[in-house]
Amino acid sequence: MNIRDMYKTKKHLFSFEIFPPKVATAFEKVSGVVDELTILSPDFISVTYGAGGSVKDNRTVELCKIVKNSNRSEPMAHLTCVGSSRQEISELLDQLEAIGVTNVLALRGDKNPNVTKEGDFRYASQLTEYIKTVKPHFNVMGACYPAGHCESASQKDDIINLKRKVDAGASGLITQMFFDNEEFYRFRDLAQVAGIEVPIEVGIMPITNSRQIERVISLSSATMPARLSKLLSRYGQNDKAMFDAGVAYATEQIIELLSADVDGVHLYTMNNPLVAKKISDGIGGLLGETR
Ligand code: FAD
Repeated sequence: MNIRDMYKTKKHLFSFEIFPPKVATAFEKVSGVVDELTILSPDFISVTYGAGGSVKDNRTVELCKIVKNSNRSEPMAHLTCVGSSRQEISELLDQLEAIGVTNVLALRGDKNPNVTKEGDFRYASQLTEYIKTVKPHFNVMGACYPAGHCESASQKDDIINLKRKVDAGASGLITQMFFDNEEFYRFRDLAQVAGIEVPIEVGIMPITNSRQIERVISLSSATMPARLSKLLSRYGQNDKAMFDAGVAYATEQIIELLSADVDGVHLYTMNNPLVAKKISDGIGGLLGETR
């Protein structure tokens, strides 16, 4: 099903992000993760893609196929364009279409020092435009950054560029993780003023162990609220306590966002079904509203 149509009927979507295994032999384990996640009835599950990945050994396509074959959720394939040619992207789109996947998150990807080849695309908006030209029936979504993208000179510039992505055909946006809801509300207001009217789903990363923090800091410029820092310094060395504190923090964050009428919640599951289940149990009653 086209994810764009889901936003038309449901007030809030609930979706998950998962990543493919690093080695092909670990697919069995990830299949188990998909089983446990799809029982929670997410509207869709997005599958990440390694920037500069190979068309021939594409684990994103493989994992999307597992989600599709579960018949319990819709897969959305992430697709990065940095270092890729039009021909390579076109082959990937064909592979996705062949397994019935037509929802794509179009991304530029981070520049990888190991990938030196020049690609045909500079920005995600160009990839979006290309996909909508060669596969007009595909639903394309894009990424956005409540704290501004790290390469942008200002948030204003970033939002001007985001509008270009929407004008190129992105039917919805998913945010980078953030921990302070006020940061998201400010961004949502600015996007609205800029004329961005597509649904914006909030990306939430539950911090359930202190090791995640380094990754979070490297990935986003998100503000770390004092309340979350306190939980980390108090419970960071105790895995069980940090798990409970991190799930509780993310659940409260989501409940507040839902009450502020966000279009959807996209959970960065880190392939951990237990985290997804705890959060799903905590917010299940809030998700049933229709438009
Ligand atoms: P773009 O939209 O192209 O923006 C990149 C920068 O260029 C921004 O600073 C923007 O303001 C600027 N810009 C855009 N257009 C123009 C223009 N016309 N002129 C001048 N400047 C411009 N990475 C992966 O490798 N794999 C994944 O699976 C993945 N999934 C992600 C999922 C989500 C929800 C998010 C938020 C990020 C994800 N990323 C992933 C990370 C993403 O690839 C990086 O953040 C990357 O640096 C930017 O990608 P983008 O698609 O937002 O780029």
